[in-house]
Amino acid sequence: MSNYPEDAFLQLSGIQHFIFCPRQWGLIHLEQQWAENVRTTEGKILHERAHDGSLSEKRGDLLILRDLRVHSHRLGVSGACDVVEFYACRDGISLARWEGRWRPFPVEYKRGRPKKHQADVLQLCAQAICLEEMLCCTIEAGAIYYAEIKRRQEVYFSPELRKTVEETLSQMQDYAARGHTPRAKPSRSCNACSMINICLPKLRRCPSAQSYLCSAVEEVRICENF
Ligand code: SF4
Repeated sequence: MSNYPEDAFLQLSGIQHFIFCPRQWGLIHLEQQWAENVRTTEGKILHERAHDGSLSEKRGDLLILRDLRVHSHRLGVSGACDVVEFYACRDGISLARWEGRWRPFPVEYKRGRPKKHQADVLQLCAQAICLEEMLCCTIEAGAIYYAEIKRRQEVYFSPELRKTVEETLSQMQDYAARGHTPRAKPSRSCNACSMINICLPKLRRCPSAQSYLCSAVEEVRICENF
């Protein structure tokens, strides 16, 4: 994967939209469309709470930084981590404003519960790769806090997971470079999609203008032959 200039950076949070539905990502991130539903509103409130209070806090051997801006030239993304915890550690990295050495551990806050798809996990892994590039370190794991079950799920950043992040972002970069919003693929996800009234996925089942015109011409020809 090559290095991307800053003006080609994609929003890191877009990974979750792309995994949910590539068209949803295209509508939001390429066409700047947006619509709220109950899920998006709940998610926004949860993130505002995660970012509440001071941006940094120290509790003994634990340093907590909130809403930390991150980017990666290699992946071509930028965004923010809800929370990055830094644990005091002898062979950790040094930080500009804080004495000592630290081991970073990103934490993402999500509404709901762990999901079958990989959207949340891939987003967290992309954050970790950004942190690794910025801090010149290796991050082995992070966690996702799910509000519905009020628990953290630890995530190990395996080579396979990192590869999936890179492949997903590469596909997104390809769509973005072409300015192409993926076509609708109606599925059960549409019922939970805030963009359904903008996307109109059922129209996907209607014939294209070209095939409509072709069949209309064919009908006229048949009539003329009578
Ligand atoms: S309505 Fe369905 S096809 Fe359209 S963006 Fe949402 S999930 Fe994707």
